[in-house]
Amino acid sequence: MKHLSEAKKAVRDLAPRIIEMNRCIFERPELNFNERFAAGHISSALAEEGFAVRAGAGKLKTAFDATWRGSRKGPVVAILSEYDALPNIGHACGHNMIAAASFGAAVAVRRLLGKNCGTLKVVGTPAEEGGGGKLMMIKEGWFKGVDAALMVHPANHTRTVARMLAVMEIEFKYYGKASHAAAHPELGINALDAVIMLFNSINALRQQTPNFSRVHGIVTHGGDAPNIIPEFASAKFFVRGITMADFRYMLAKVTDCAKASARATGCKLKVVKNPLVYQPFEPNRTLGKVFRPYAEALGLKDAGIPENEEIGSSDIGNLSQVVPCLHPEFAVSDPHIVNHSREFLKAVVSKRGEDALLKATTALAATVCKLFADKTLAASVRREFETFLKNR
Ligand SMILES: [Zn+2]
Ligand SMILES: [Zn+2]
Repeated sequence: MKHLSEAKKAVRDLAPRIIEMNRCIFERPELNFNERFAAGHISSALAEEGFAVRAGAGKLKTAFDATWRGSRKGPVVAILSEYDALPNIGHACGHNMIAAASFGAAVAVRRLLGKNCGTLKVVGTPAEEGGGGKLMMIKEGWFKGVDAALMVHPANHTRTVARMLAVMEIEFKYYGKASHAAAHPELGINALDAVIMLFNSINALRQQTPNFSRVHGIVTHGGDAPNIIPEFASAKFFVRGITMADFRYMLAKVTDCAKASARATGCKLKVVKNPLVYQPFEPNRTLGKVFRPYAEALGLKDAGIPENEEIGSSDIGNLSQVVPCLHPEFAVSDPHIVNHSREFLKAVVSKRGEDALLKATTALAATVCKLFADKTLAASVRREFETFLKNR
């Protein structure tokens, strides 16, 4: 636990700045790809600490990376930063905490190791909440040469290792025929009926879906007036699976339901798939075995929730298919107060939340220090990742 006691001291010295960063990003919530203040604030704080900052451009103008190069041959370790907020509800996912932890952990590691390390990076990844910032960054090569990528995420429970679901958004648009709903309903083709049948057949499908799959949707258009047979109706769904195979199976089944309801009603169907597919998240368990004892020694006790349960989706899923990743959650609230709620919004700047933030930052810093110090660890992380690639 040598790395832990050192990290503890370093994070304690940085605590006022970590808390300050947590709060000032919280105060200025910014949406997908518009996180100008946050990206500028984090990267200039890292520049002041000696990191070489590269700013993003184009659509990724709020991406950045900040690099500290040691003099030793060693792994390239990326600490991931997220800083986008949610529409209307601000930082209710607590990405302000992720930003503050990435800054705190990186600076703590730099102060502890100086030049006695490989390459340490903070990678600022915009638009996690639906924008797929990491997908674009992977395409542009921001993670080339990275041996491990780590971050921490606030949640309603503490858990080091959890998987996440693949997800895609899909919209079904039905085109029927308008008619007088009382005088001549027989001349109409009811597009709303197609949407209702779609929901009913998906609900029947739920009994036969693979474990942990999810499908959930809303009606985006349901007609224009009760006295007109709806000529247009539409619905949007998220389709999720724990593996790409399950995800593809679910997508095919849901699409079949949509086609069947078009056929039954006589509507024409247009299927609009969002091209962003978040892939399943595969945590690197070797990294998890290092992080967890550090977190627990600091009082962040793992809640013991199985790794396939209480999970969502994230663009780090795609990154975990190309780089070994760790995405531990740390509790900032009671279990019934969950991310994306008004109560969670309060928790991410509460005393309890910020205490947990400092602990998670410390465990993250200690894990990164160990990765630089212990040559066999980076090799084991790689070995586990290669086995995963072979078997996926
Ligand atoms: Zn979220
Ligand atoms: Zn989040």
